[in-house]
Amino acid sequence: MSTQRGNTKRTRPQKYKNTTAFKNDLHDTSSKIKQMNDIEIMNVCARCKNILEWKIKFKKYKFMKAPKKCTKCEQKTVKSTYHIMCIPCAEKEKVCPKCGKFEEIVRKTDPDQQKLESELQNLVRGLPERKRRTFLRLISRKEKPNGEAVEDIEKIKEEAMKKLSSLNLELEEDDCDSVDISDQSYSDE
Ligand SMILES: [Zn+2]
Ligand SMILES: [Zn+2]
Repeated sequence: MSTQRGNTKRTRPQKYKNTTAFKNDLHDTSSKIKQMNDIEIMNVCARCKNILEWKIKFKKYKFMKAPKKCTKCEQKTVKSTYHIMCIPCAEKEKVCPKCGKFEEIVRKTDPDQQKLESELQNLVRGLPERKRRTFLRLISRKEKPNGEAVEDIEKIKEEAMKKLSSLNLELEEDDCDSVDISDQSYSDE
C-alpha cells in the first residue's frame, strides 16, 4: 500500500518530474503567443501581477477586442485585459486597477533612478559602518512623507554628494584623532 488511511504524508519522492521547465512557445510559434510573451505586467498589485503572469505562462491570457467600461468613471476607458478600472481612476483612488484593492502597485523602475541608486551604493560601500548609516538616513529623505513624486533625480544626487563630502571631511578628522602613537616607538631606534 502506498499510503495508509488518513496518512497523507508521502515518503517516496514524486515519480514523474518534468526535466525541463514548461515553455508556452515550444509547440506554438504564432504571433499571438509572441505578443503574449512580450507583455510586461505592470501597474497592478503584486498579487495580480502574479496571476497575470501565470495566465501568460499557461496561455490563458486573453486579449481584449474593445475597451471595457471602467467601474469608477463608467467610461469605456479600460484597455487592459482583466482590469476593472482605467489607469487614471486607479491612480486617483490609489488602488490596483485589476482587483480594485488598496495595495502597493508594482511599477516599472525608472532607469535613471536605478542608475542613481547603484551609484550611491558604490559611494556608500567606501564608508565605514557608522558613516554609512548616517548617509543612508540622509538620502532616504528624498521621498516626501505624503507620497508625492520624488524631486528631480539630479537634485537628489547633488545633495547626496554634498552630504557625502561633508561626511568625508568629518571622516578625515576622525582618522587624525586615531593615529596610532605606538608607531613612533619604532622611529626612535
Ligand atoms: Zn475610469
Ligand atoms: Zn490587484
